[in-house]
Amino acid sequence: MATEVKLSEGKDLTKIERIGAHSHIRGLGLDDAFEARAVSQGMVGQKAARRAAGVILQMIKEGKIAGRAVLLAGQPGTGKTAIAMGMAKALGEETPFAMMAGSEIFSLEMGKTEALTQAFRKAIGVRIKEETELIEGEVVEIQIDRPATTGAASKTGKLTLKTTEMETVYDLGTKMIEALGKEKVTSGDVIAIDKASGKITKLGRSFARSRDYDAMGPQTKFVQCPDGELQKRKEVVHVVTLHEIDVINSRTQGFLALFAGDTGEIRSEVREQIDSKVAEWREEGKAEVVPGVLFIDEVHMLDMECFSFLNRALENEMAPILVVATNRGITRIRGTNYKSPHGIPIDLLDRLLIISTTPYTEEELRSILDIRCQEEDVEMSDDAKELLTKIAKETSLRYAMCLITASSLACQKRKGKEVEIEDITRVYQLFVDVKRSTQYLMEYQEQFMF
Ligand code: ATP
Repeated sequence: MATEVKLSEGKDLTKIERIGAHSHIRGLGLDDAFEARAVSQGMVGQKAARRAAGVILQMIKEGKIAGRAVLLAGQPGTGKTAIAMGMAKALGEETPFAMMAGSEIFSLEMGKTEALTQAFRKAIGVRIKEETELIEGEVVEIQIDRPATTGAASKTGKLTLKTTEMETVYDLGTKMIEALGKEKVTSGDVIAIDKASGKITKLGRSFARSRDYDAMGPQTKFVQCPDGELQKRKEVVHVVTLHEIDVINSRTQGFLALFAGDTGEIRSEVREQIDSKVAEWREEGKAEVVPGVLFIDEVHMLDMECFSFLNRALENEMAPILVVATNRGITRIRGTNYKSPHGIPIDLLDRLLIISTTPYTEEELRSILDIRCQEEDVEMSDDAKELLTKIAKETSLRYAMCLITASSLACQKRKGKEVEIEDITRVYQLFVDVKRSTQYLMEYQEQFMF
Protein backbone atom coordinates (compact mmCIF):
# COMPACT_ATOMS: atom_id res chain seq x y z
CA MET A 1 0.00 0.00 0.00
CA ALA A 2 1.40 3.36 -0.98
CA THR A 3 1.66 5.58 2.02
CA GLU A 4 3.01 8.65 0.37
CA VAL A 5 0.39 11.31 0.05
CA LYS A 6 0.91 13.84 -2.68
CA LEU A 7 0.04 17.43 -2.01
CA SER A 8 0.61 18.98 -5.36
CA GLU A 9 1.72 17.97 -8.78
CA GLY A 10 4.51 20.13 -10.03
CA LYS A 11 2.72 23.32 -9.42
CA ASP A 12 0.84 25.03 -6.67
CA LEU A 13 -2.85 24.74 -6.75
CA THR A 14 -4.66 27.96 -7.23
CA LYS A 15 -7.96 28.07 -5.52
CA ILE A 16 -10.65 28.52 -8.10
CA GLU A 17 -13.43 30.71 -6.94
CA ARG A 18 -16.48 31.09 -9.06
CA ILE A 19 -18.13 33.62 -6.86
CA GLY A 20 -17.93 36.78 -8.91
CA ALA A 21 -21.30 38.00 -7.67
CA HIS A 22 -19.99 38.13 -4.11
CA SER A 23 -16.48 39.38 -4.75
CA HIS A 24 -17.30 42.64 -2.93
CA ILE A 25 -17.94 40.83 0.35
CA ARG A 26 -14.87 41.07 2.56
CA GLY A 27 -16.31 40.22 5.95
CA LEU A 28 -19.43 40.74 8.04
CA GLY A 29 -18.74 44.43 8.62
CA LEU A 30 -19.05 44.28 12.42
CA ASP A 31 -17.40 46.53 14.99
CA ASP A 32 -15.56 45.32 18.09
CA ALA A 33 -18.79 45.01 20.03
CA PHE A 34 -20.28 42.82 17.26
CA GLU A 35 -22.62 45.59 16.17
CA ALA A 36 -23.19 45.73 12.43
CA ARG A 37 -21.87 48.88 10.80
CA ALA A 38 -24.39 50.31 8.27
CA VAL A 39 -22.02 49.81 5.34
CA SER A 40 -18.75 48.00 5.90
CA GLN A 41 -16.58 45.37 4.24
CA GLY A 42 -18.93 45.37 1.26
CA MET A 43 -21.93 44.55 3.47
CA VAL A 44 -25.03 46.70 3.60
CA GLY A 45 -28.01 46.58 6.00
CA GLN A 46 -29.35 43.18 7.16
CA LYS A 47 -27.99 44.25 10.53
CA ALA A 48 -29.69 41.73 12.83
CA ALA A 49 -28.67 38.80 10.65
CA ARG A 50 -25.07 40.01 10.43
CA ARG A 51 -24.91 40.50 14.18
CA ALA A 52 -26.24 36.97 14.72
CA ALA A 53 -23.68 35.62 12.25
CA GLY A 54 -21.00 37.46 14.23
CA VAL A 55 -22.10 35.76 17.46
CA ILE A 56 -21.84 32.42 15.69
CA LEU A 57 -18.31 33.29 14.59
CA GLN A 58 -17.47 33.96 18.21
CA MET A 59 -18.88 30.58 19.18
CA ILE A 60 -16.80 28.98 16.44
CA LYS A 61 -13.65 30.69 17.70
CA GLU A 62 -14.36 29.50 21.23
CA GLY A 63 -15.00 25.97 19.93
CA LYS A 64 -18.60 25.98 21.12
CA ILE A 65 -20.44 25.12 17.96
CA ALA A 66 -19.59 21.46 17.54
CA GLY A 67 -22.40 19.44 16.07
CA ARG A 68 -24.53 22.46 15.25
CA ALA A 69 -25.23 24.29 12.05
CA VAL A 70 -26.73 27.56 10.90
CA LEU A 71 -29.88 28.07 8.87
CA LEU A 72 -30.33 31.30 6.96
CA ALA A 73 -33.99 31.71 6.13
CA GLY A 74 -35.31 34.49 3.95
CA GLN A 75 -36.60 35.52 0.56
CA PRO A 76 -34.46 35.19 -2.56
CA GLY A 77 -31.81 37.85 -2.95
CA THR A 78 -31.81 38.91 0.69
CA GLY A 79 -28.13 38.17 1.13
CA LYS A 80 -28.09 34.64 2.53
CA THR A 81 -25.13 33.63 0.39
CA ALA A 82 -23.51 36.99 1.03
CA ILE A 83 -23.70 36.45 4.81
CA ALA A 84 -22.28 32.91 4.60
CA MET A 85 -19.47 34.28 2.45
CA GLY A 86 -18.90 37.11 4.95
CA MET A 87 -18.56 34.56 7.76
CA ALA A 88 -15.89 32.65 5.85
CA LYS A 89 -14.01 35.86 5.07
CA ALA A 90 -14.20 36.98 8.69
CA LEU A 91 -12.63 33.69 9.78
CA GLY A 92 -9.57 34.56 7.75
CA GLU A 93 -8.45 34.67 4.14
CA GLU A 94 -7.29 31.08 4.19
CA THR A 95 -10.56 29.68 5.51
CA PRO A 96 -12.01 27.48 2.79
CA PHE A 97 -15.49 28.36 1.59
CA ALA A 98 -17.40 25.78 -0.41
CA MET A 99 -20.78 26.45 -1.88
CA MET A 100 -23.36 24.19 -3.44
CA ALA A 101 -27.06 24.21 -4.20
CA GLY A 102 -29.23 21.41 -2.82
CA SER A 103 -30.44 20.57 -6.32
CA GLU A 104 -26.88 19.87 -7.54
CA ILE A 105 -26.96 16.64 -5.57
CA PHE A 106 -29.40 15.16 -8.05
CA SER A 107 -27.78 16.32 -11.24
CA LEU A 108 -24.18 15.28 -10.74
CA GLU A 109 -22.83 12.10 -12.21
CA MET A 110 -22.13 10.68 -8.79
CA GLY A 111 -23.98 9.33 -5.81
CA LYS A 112 -25.60 11.74 -3.35
CA THR A 113 -23.36 10.79 -0.45
CA GLU A 114 -20.26 11.14 -2.61
CA ALA A 115 -21.35 14.61 -3.73
CA LEU A 116 -21.95 15.65 -0.11
CA THR A 117 -18.67 14.11 1.05
CA GLN A 118 -16.82 16.06 -1.63
CA ALA A 119 -18.59 19.25 -0.59
CA PHE A 120 -17.59 18.68 3.06
CA ARG A 121 -13.98 17.97 2.12
CA LYS A 122 -13.84 21.09 -0.05
CA ALA A 123 -14.64 23.03 3.10
CA ILE A 124 -11.90 21.48 5.25
CA GLY A 125 -8.47 23.00 4.81
CA VAL A 126 -5.12 21.56 5.83
CA ARG A 127 -2.47 24.12 6.66
CA ILE A 128 0.86 22.59 5.85
CA LYS A 129 4.16 23.97 7.03
CA GLU A 130 7.31 23.36 5.09
CA GLU A 131 10.69 24.76 5.85
CA THR A 132 13.13 25.63 3.15
CA GLU A 133 16.67 26.69 3.72
CA LEU A 134 17.39 29.75 1.76
CA ILE A 135 20.12 32.31 1.74
CA GLU A 136 18.97 35.61 0.40
CA GLY A 137 20.79 38.79 -0.31
CA GLU A 138 21.88 41.37 -2.77
CA VAL A 139 24.61 40.48 -5.24
CA VAL A 140 27.41 42.95 -4.72
CA GLU A 141 30.07 41.41 -6.83
CA ILE A 142 30.54 38.45 -9.13
CA GLN A 143 34.03 37.24 -9.87
CA ILE A 144 34.55 34.51 -12.42
CA ASP A 145 38.11 33.30 -12.85
CA ARG A 146 37.77 31.88 -16.32
CA PRO A 147 35.50 33.28 -19.04
CA ALA A 148 32.63 31.30 -20.43
CA THR A 149 34.43 30.14 -23.59
CA THR A 150 35.78 26.98 -21.99
CA GLY A 151 32.32 25.77 -21.04
CA ALA A 152 30.35 26.06 -17.86
CA ALA A 153 31.90 23.05 -16.16
CA SER A 154 35.29 24.64 -15.87
CA LYS A 155 34.09 27.90 -14.43
CA THR A 156 34.86 28.79 -10.88
CA GLY A 157 34.30 32.01 -9.13
CA LYS A 158 33.02 33.93 -6.20
CA LEU A 159 29.76 35.59 -5.54
CA THR A 160 29.61 38.21 -2.85
CA LEU A 161 26.21 38.49 -1.35
CA LYS A 162 25.26 41.36 0.85
CA THR A 163 22.27 40.92 3.05
CA THR A 164 20.65 43.43 5.31
CA GLU A 165 22.37 41.92 8.31
CA MET A 166 25.77 40.76 7.13
CA GLU A 167 28.01 40.04 4.18
CA THR A 168 28.55 36.57 2.81
CA VAL A 169 31.00 35.29 0.23
CA TYR A 170 30.13 32.25 -1.83
CA ASP A 171 32.22 29.98 -3.95
CA LEU A 172 30.41 29.40 -7.14
CA GLY A 173 30.00 25.79 -8.16
CA THR A 174 29.17 24.74 -11.70
CA LYS A 175 25.51 24.51 -10.90
CA MET A 176 25.45 28.06 -9.68
CA ILE A 177 27.32 29.38 -12.66
CA GLU A 178 24.86 27.67 -14.96
CA ALA A 179 21.97 29.06 -13.05
CA LEU A 180 23.52 32.50 -13.03
CA GLY A 181 23.95 32.32 -16.78
CA LYS A 182 20.30 31.51 -17.28
CA GLU A 183 19.01 34.01 -14.82
CA LYS A 184 21.41 36.75 -15.92
CA VAL A 185 22.25 37.89 -12.44
CA THR A 186 24.24 41.07 -12.16
CA SER A 187 25.45 43.17 -9.26
CA GLY A 188 22.57 44.77 -7.45
CA ASP A 189 20.18 41.91 -8.09
CA VAL A 190 18.67 40.16 -5.16
CA ILE A 191 18.86 36.42 -5.26
CA ALA A 192 18.00 33.47 -3.08
CA ILE A 193 20.11 30.34 -2.99
CA ASP A 194 18.61 27.10 -1.86
CA LYS A 195 21.30 25.52 0.28
CA ALA A 196 20.28 21.99 -0.44
CA SER A 197 20.02 22.11 -4.21
CA GLY A 198 22.17 25.15 -4.97
CA LYS A 199 19.29 26.49 -7.03
CA ILE A 200 19.44 30.23 -7.54
CA THR A 201 16.31 32.30 -7.85
CA LYS A 202 16.27 35.93 -8.79
CA LEU A 203 14.00 37.91 -6.50
CA GLY A 204 14.15 41.38 -8.04
CA ARG A 205 16.07 44.46 -7.08
CA SER A 206 13.75 46.16 -4.64
CA PHE A 207 13.65 43.11 -2.41
CA ALA A 208 16.75 43.84 -0.38
CA ARG A 209 15.40 46.93 1.30
CA SER A 210 14.86 46.19 4.91
CA ARG A 211 11.20 47.03 4.81
CA ASP A 212 10.73 44.27 2.27
CA TYR A 213 12.23 41.88 4.74
CA ASP A 214 9.89 43.24 7.35
CA ALA A 215 6.98 42.87 4.99
CA MET A 216 7.70 39.19 4.69
CA GLY A 217 6.22 38.88 8.11
CA PRO A 218 6.65 36.46 10.94
CA GLN A 219 7.00 33.45 8.65
CA THR A 220 10.56 34.46 7.89
CA LYS A 221 13.26 33.68 10.36
CA PHE A 222 16.95 34.52 10.13
CA VAL A 223 19.32 31.99 11.55
CA GLN A 224 22.98 32.64 12.24
CA CYS A 225 24.93 29.54 11.25
CA PRO A 226 28.12 28.38 12.98
CA ASP A 227 30.26 29.18 9.93
CA GLY A 228 29.17 32.77 10.05
CA GLU A 229 26.92 32.58 7.05
CA LEU A 230 23.57 34.08 7.23
CA GLN A 231 21.04 31.47 6.60
CA LYS A 232 17.53 32.43 6.07
CA ARG A 233 14.98 29.86 6.94
CA LYS A 234 11.71 30.47 5.36
CA GLU A 235 8.66 28.68 6.49
CA VAL A 236 6.36 28.11 3.56
CA VAL A 237 2.80 27.68 4.65
CA HIS A 238 0.06 26.68 2.31
CA VAL A 239 -3.50 25.62 2.75
CA VAL A 240 -5.00 22.93 0.59
CA THR A 241 -8.39 21.38 1.04
CA LEU A 242 -8.89 17.71 1.81
CA HIS A 243 -10.76 17.44 -1.48
CA GLU A 244 -7.78 18.77 -3.39
CA ILE A 245 -5.54 16.19 -1.72
CA ASP A 246 -8.12 13.49 -2.51
CA VAL A 247 -8.21 14.40 -6.19
CA ILE A 248 -4.47 14.64 -6.61
CA ASN A 249 -4.02 11.22 -5.09
CA SER A 250 -6.78 9.43 -6.87
CA ARG A 251 -6.97 10.34 -10.51
CA THR A 252 -4.60 9.89 -13.38
CA GLN A 253 -5.15 13.41 -14.64
CA GLY A 254 -4.28 14.69 -11.15
CA PHE A 255 -4.85 18.29 -10.25
CA LEU A 256 -6.13 19.15 -13.72
CA ALA A 257 -9.35 17.44 -12.74
CA LEU A 258 -9.85 20.21 -10.19
CA PHE A 259 -9.83 22.82 -12.92
CA ALA A 260 -12.04 20.80 -15.22
CA GLY A 261 -14.50 20.22 -12.37
CA ASP A 262 -14.52 16.58 -13.41
CA THR A 263 -13.32 14.86 -10.29
CA GLY A 264 -15.52 11.76 -10.38
CA GLU A 265 -16.05 9.51 -7.38
CA ILE A 266 -13.14 9.06 -5.02
CA ARG A 267 -12.43 5.66 -3.55
CA SER A 268 -12.91 5.38 0.18
CA GLU A 269 -9.47 3.73 0.63
CA VAL A 270 -7.86 6.86 -0.79
CA ARG A 271 -9.72 9.02 1.68
CA GLU A 272 -8.88 6.77 4.61
CA GLN A 273 -5.23 6.87 3.67
CA ILE A 274 -5.26 10.64 3.40
CA ASP A 275 -7.08 11.06 6.70
CA SER A 276 -4.54 8.93 8.55
CA LYS A 277 -1.67 10.79 6.89
CA VAL A 278 -3.17 14.13 7.89
CA ALA A 279 -3.63 12.83 11.44
CA GLU A 280 0.05 11.84 11.45
CA TRP A 281 1.12 15.28 10.23
CA ARG A 282 -1.02 16.89 12.89
CA GLU A 283 0.65 14.84 15.57
CA GLU A 284 4.09 15.75 14.24
CA GLY A 285 3.12 19.42 14.20
CA LYS A 286 3.53 19.62 10.43
CA ALA A 287 -0.07 20.36 9.68
CA GLU A 288 -3.15 21.90 11.17
CA VAL A 289 -6.74 21.44 10.16
CA VAL A 290 -8.61 24.61 9.19
CA PRO A 291 -12.36 23.96 9.31
CA GLY A 292 -14.00 26.14 6.68
CA VAL A 293 -17.56 27.04 5.85
CA LEU A 294 -19.80 24.81 3.77
CA PHE A 295 -22.78 26.66 2.39
CA ILE A 296 -25.70 24.65 1.02
CA ASP A 297 -28.28 26.81 -0.69
CA GLU A 298 -31.85 25.56 -1.39
CA VAL A 299 -31.49 23.07 1.43
CA HIS A 300 -35.15 22.09 1.01
CA MET A 301 -34.10 20.29 -2.19
CA LEU A 302 -32.25 17.64 -0.14
CA ASP A 303 -33.95 14.36 0.78
CA MET A 304 -33.98 12.20 3.93
CA GLU A 305 -30.84 10.33 2.91
CA CYS A 306 -28.94 13.61 2.57
CA PHE A 307 -30.30 14.97 5.84
CA SER A 308 -29.15 11.91 7.74
CA PHE A 309 -25.74 12.28 6.10
CA LEU A 310 -25.59 15.89 7.36
CA ASN A 311 -26.59 14.80 10.86
CA ARG A 312 -23.75 12.31 10.92
CA ALA A 313 -21.18 14.53 9.24
CA LEU A 314 -21.70 17.24 11.85
CA GLU A 315 -20.41 14.90 14.51
CA ASN A 316 -17.00 14.64 12.88
CA GLU A 317 -14.29 16.54 14.75
CA MET A 318 -12.98 18.03 11.49
CA ALA A 319 -16.44 19.14 10.35
CA PRO A 320 -16.66 22.54 8.71
CA ILE A 321 -19.23 25.05 9.84
CA LEU A 322 -22.36 24.10 7.99
CA VAL A 323 -24.51 26.99 6.84
CA VAL A 324 -27.68 26.08 5.00
CA ALA A 325 -30.20 28.39 3.40
CA THR A 326 -33.75 28.25 2.18
CA ASN A 327 -36.47 30.58 1.05
CA ARG A 328 -39.26 28.08 1.82
CA GLY A 329 -41.70 28.11 4.73
CA ILE A 330 -43.55 24.97 5.78
CA THR A 331 -43.13 22.48 3.00
CA ARG A 332 -42.93 18.77 2.25
CA ILE A 333 -39.64 17.01 3.04
CA ARG A 334 -38.41 15.70 -0.27
CA GLY A 335 -39.22 12.05 -0.87
CA THR A 336 -41.68 11.84 2.03
CA ASN A 337 -45.26 12.87 2.73
CA TYR A 338 -44.30 14.81 5.83
CA LYS A 339 -44.43 18.53 6.01
CA SER A 340 -41.91 20.38 8.09
CA PRO A 341 -40.65 23.96 8.60
CA HIS A 342 -38.31 24.81 5.68
CA GLY A 343 -38.63 21.21 4.42
CA ILE A 344 -36.03 20.13 7.00
CA PRO A 345 -36.61 17.11 9.31
CA ILE A 346 -37.18 18.03 12.95
CA ASP A 347 -34.06 16.26 14.30
CA LEU A 348 -31.78 18.35 12.07
CA LEU A 349 -33.85 21.46 12.59
CA ASP A 350 -33.27 21.04 16.28
CA ARG A 351 -29.51 21.43 15.79
CA LEU A 352 -29.81 24.56 13.69
CA LEU A 353 -29.33 28.11 14.83
CA ILE A 354 -31.79 30.01 12.68
CA ILE A 355 -31.08 33.47 11.32
CA SER A 356 -33.67 35.21 9.20
CA THR A 357 -32.99 37.76 6.52
CA THR A 358 -35.44 40.46 5.54
CA PRO A 359 -36.08 42.39 2.29
CA TYR A 360 -34.00 45.51 1.67
CA THR A 361 -35.11 49.12 1.73
CA GLU A 362 -34.65 51.22 -1.38
CA GLU A 363 -31.71 53.00 0.23
CA GLU A 364 -29.98 49.71 1.00
CA LEU A 365 -30.54 48.44 -2.53
CA ARG A 366 -28.98 51.63 -3.85
CA SER A 367 -26.00 51.17 -1.57
CA ILE A 368 -25.44 47.57 -2.68
CA LEU A 369 -25.68 48.59 -6.35
CA ASP A 370 -23.22 51.41 -5.66
CA ILE A 371 -20.72 48.93 -4.20
CA ARG A 372 -21.16 46.62 -7.19
CA CYS A 373 -20.53 49.51 -9.63
CA GLN A 374 -17.26 50.21 -7.81
CA GLU A 375 -16.38 46.54 -7.76
CA GLU A 376 -16.95 46.22 -11.50
CA ASP A 377 -15.27 49.56 -12.23
CA VAL A 378 -18.38 50.98 -13.81
CA GLU A 379 -18.99 54.74 -13.78
CA MET A 380 -22.69 55.48 -13.54
CA SER A 381 -24.61 58.74 -13.36
CA ASP A 382 -26.83 59.39 -10.33
CA ASP A 383 -29.98 59.30 -12.46
CA ALA A 384 -29.02 55.94 -13.89
CA LYS A 385 -28.34 54.59 -10.39
CA GLU A 386 -31.73 55.79 -9.26
CA LEU A 387 -33.41 54.01 -12.15
CA LEU A 388 -31.43 50.85 -11.47
CA THR A 389 -32.50 50.97 -7.81
CA LYS A 390 -36.15 51.21 -8.90
CA ILE A 391 -35.61 48.21 -11.17
CA ALA A 392 -34.05 46.27 -8.28
CA LYS A 393 -37.07 47.07 -6.13
CA GLU A 394 -39.60 46.11 -8.80
CA THR A 395 -37.81 43.01 -10.08
CA SER A 396 -34.86 41.64 -8.11
CA LEU A 397 -31.49 42.75 -6.82
CA ARG A 398 -29.75 40.07 -8.84
CA TYR A 399 -31.40 41.15 -12.07
CA ALA A 400 -30.39 44.76 -11.42
CA MET A 401 -26.82 43.63 -10.75
CA CYS A 402 -26.69 41.85 -14.11
CA LEU A 403 -27.78 45.08 -15.77
CA ILE A 404 -24.68 46.86 -14.40
CA THR A 405 -22.33 44.84 -16.60
CA ALA A 406 -24.67 44.86 -19.58
CA SER A 407 -25.34 48.61 -19.41
CA SER A 408 -21.64 49.33 -19.13
CA LEU A 409 -21.13 47.45 -22.42
CA ALA A 410 -23.93 49.47 -23.99
CA CYS A 411 -22.22 52.63 -22.75
CA GLN A 412 -18.86 51.55 -24.19
CA LYS A 413 -20.52 50.84 -27.51
CA ARG A 414 -21.76 54.41 -27.83
CA LYS A 415 -18.35 55.58 -26.56
CA GLY A 416 -19.91 57.18 -23.50
CA LYS A 417 -17.95 58.00 -20.32
CA GLU A 418 -20.49 56.89 -17.77
CA VAL A 419 -23.59 54.73 -17.82
CA GLU A 420 -26.65 56.92 -18.37
CA ILE A 421 -30.38 56.29 -18.14
CA GLU A 422 -30.47 55.45 -21.86
CA ASP A 423 -28.02 52.57 -21.39
CA ILE A 424 -30.08 51.13 -18.55
CA THR A 425 -33.34 51.37 -20.52
CA ARG A 426 -31.67 49.78 -23.50
CA VAL A 427 -30.52 46.69 -21.61
CA TYR A 428 -33.76 46.59 -19.62
CA GLN A 429 -35.53 46.14 -22.95
CA LEU A 430 -33.00 43.62 -24.21
CA PHE A 431 -33.12 41.32 -21.21
CA VAL A 432 -36.38 40.52 -19.53
CA ASP A 433 -36.66 39.87 -15.83
CA VAL A 434 -38.57 36.90 -14.46
CA LYS A 435 -41.82 38.83 -14.01
CA ARG A 436 -41.91 40.02 -17.61
CA SER A 437 -40.79 36.65 -18.87
CA THR A 438 -43.64 34.95 -17.01
CA GLN A 439 -46.12 37.48 -18.32
CA TYR A 440 -44.90 36.79 -21.83
CA LEU A 441 -45.24 33.06 -21.31
CA MET A 442 -48.81 33.49 -20.10
CA GLU A 443 -49.77 35.68 -23.04
CA TYR A 444 -48.32 33.41 -25.65
CA GLN A 445 -48.52 30.04 -23.95
CA GLU A 446 -50.51 28.31 -26.68
CA GLN A 447 -47.70 29.04 -29.13
CA PHE A 448 -45.08 27.22 -27.04
CA MET A 449 -44.45 23.52 -27.41
CA PHE A 450 -45.42 21.16 -24.62
P1 ATP B 1 -31.18 33.07 -2.99
O1 ATP B 1 -32.22 32.73 -1.97
O2 ATP B 1 -31.81 33.32 -4.33
O3 ATP B 1 -30.05 32.12 -3.06
P2 ATP B 1 -29.60 34.93 -1.43
O4 ATP B 1 -30.44 35.32 -0.26
O5 ATP B 1 -28.54 33.93 -1.22
O6 ATP B 1 -30.54 34.51 -2.62
P3 ATP B 1 -27.48 36.63 -2.38
O7 ATP B 1 -27.11 35.77 -3.53
O8 ATP B 1 -26.61 36.61 -1.20
O9 ATP B 1 -28.97 36.29 -1.97
O10 ATP B 1 -27.68 38.14 -2.85
C1 ATP B 1 -27.83 38.57 -4.18
C2 ATP B 1 -26.70 39.51 -4.53
O11 ATP B 1 -26.72 40.66 -3.68
C3 ATP B 1 -25.32 38.91 -4.34
O12 ATP B 1 -24.47 39.41 -5.35
C4 ATP B 1 -24.89 39.43 -2.98
O13 ATP B 1 -23.48 39.49 -2.89
C5 ATP B 1 -25.53 40.80 -2.92
N1 ATP B 1 -25.94 41.15 -1.56
C6 ATP B 1 -27.00 40.64 -0.91
N2 ATP B 1 -27.11 41.16 0.32
C7 ATP B 1 -26.08 42.00 0.46
C8 ATP B 1 -25.69 42.86 1.52
N3 ATP B 1 -26.35 42.91 2.68
N4 ATP B 1 -24.60 43.63 1.32
C9 ATP B 1 -23.95 43.58 0.16
N5 ATP B 1 -24.27 42.79 -0.86
C10 ATP B 1 -25.34 42.01 -0.74
